[in-house]
Amino acid sequence: MEDVFSLVRDVRDFPKPGIVFKDLTPVFRDPAAFKALIAALAAPFADQRVDAVLGIEARGFILGAAVAVHLGAGFVPARKPGKLPSKTDRESYSLEYGTDALELHSDAFRPGDRVLLVDDVIATGGTARAALALAQRQGADVIASMFALELDFLNGRSLLPTGIPVHSLLHV
Ligand code: AMP
Repeated sequence: MEDVFSLVRDVRDFPKPGIVFKDLTPVFRDPAAFKALIAALAAPFADQRVDAVLGIEARGFILGAAVAVHLGAGFVPARKPGKLPSKTDRESYSLEYGTDALELHSDAFRPGDRVLLVDDVIATGGTARAALALAQRQGADVIASMFALELDFLNGRSLLPTGIPVHSLLHV
């Protein structure tokens, strides 16, 4: 995985001053690295039943959909408000400045569905917490949250519900 993560590009002061953005697009562009990353994200769940992967807009779609195909699971998008066409459930969450929200189609999950959350980066944890809350409200059994990268200094995992394992391939 060292080769894969050597391709992650640090973009300073994006999207605002003081943020170091972890840009995974060079990983997505490299066929061997992209394949290795998807295999590594899926590996802990290879022997488990996973009904659906829940991916967070937008880079969670890229990773989550590929992980879903790898595991033989379905895919559910968690989107920014107003993007999903049918009836939705919404969860708001705090950002450094102001609030944002995520939506799921109201019929995305059936009670007992075994669900894996996938995103590229966990920073403060608010986004993942909102996505997990939406899935759990529909009765999904979230088996784990999986991230390519975790920004340890923000301790985002402390915001996530206890009892759902949190995996990250690289801690920075
Ligand atoms: P948070 O809610 O603070 O955990 O933010 C997580 C979401 O924002 C994820 O969907 C990430 O894609 C994105 N994100 C937050 N911080 C960064 C960062 N430093 N580099 C790349 N993506 C980030």
